[in-house]
Amino acid sequence: MLSETMAQVFCIANQKGGVGKTTTAVNLAAALALRGRRVLLIDLDPQGNGTMGCGIDKREVDGSVYELLLGTKHFSEVVRRAETGFDVLPANRELSGAEVELVGLKERDVRLKNALAPVLDQYDYVLVDCPPSLSMLTLNALCAADGVIIPMQCEYFALEGLTDLVGSVRRVHSDKNAGLRIISILRVMFDPRITLQQQVSEQLKKHFGDKVFNTIIPRNVRLAEAPSYGQPGVIYDRSSKGAKAYTAFADELLERMEPKTGR
Ligand code: ATP
Ligand code: MG
Repeated sequence: MLSETMAQVFCIANQKGGVGKTTTAVNLAAALALRGRRVLLIDLDPQGNGTMGCGIDKREVDGSVYELLLGTKHFSEVVRRAETGFDVLPANRELSGAEVELVGLKERDVRLKNALAPVLDQYDYVLVDCPPSLSMLTLNALCAADGVIIPMQCEYFALEGLTDLVGSVRRVHSDKNAGLRIISILRVMFDPRITLQQQVSEQLKKHFGDKVFNTIIPRNVRLAEAPSYGQPGVIYDRSSKGAKAYTAFADELLERMEPKTGR
């Protein structure tokens, strides 16, 4: 385990809506925690889906990542423990105001990075669930992160959207955060029977090489059911195909991130 090192910060981003960002963030957090890693999940989306999916009621939190970004509360006042063994910085609708309020603040794009700096030694992995936009919130995530994990559905327009995201990552890399890189492109909600999905999948591999992880997340109804029980899919039904796939994804990530220590 990496107890003396600083956390690696990964944001889960794709400006397209409904592509599986939150499902990936919540399940990866839980799977890494099951492997004994110290994990913090940050919900950076005013929809608060990641918060709810961890079993925390977004309507009942009395401090969220919003206060942390604005500097009105400390980390220790807003962090919560999910039942499933990892920490969560919750979000709710309040966070949508941050977009406007941050504009007037100095260092507005590194608010998250600065807020996390003092606690990075408490975790092995920090995962940031981004909103479906290339907004100030996503910019904060990109500035705070070491790496980007991009979940994508293998559909025709998905490739087009990827160009914008890759462009943003490049800009942040050259202007603001030289440590930023794309860690993983993860194929999600995959249906191998659909020829187009196989074709897009091949194009992805051609273009992005081994950034395209070997693990593929299939379309699996258990993953979609789990949030209504306030549980990550890997906990809700660990024998389901979806749970097994997310566990394999976590293991593939660990193998690439911790090649010497293994797991
Ligand atoms: P948003 O852009 O709104 O934040 P998102 O990218 O975070 O969306 P999710 O909320 O993770 O996407 O997923 C969108 C919907 O698809 C949800 O209802 C989720 O339960 C479902 N879903 C995600 N992954 C899978 C999967 N592998 N199989 C079946 N359903 C899935
Ligand atoms: Mg989401």
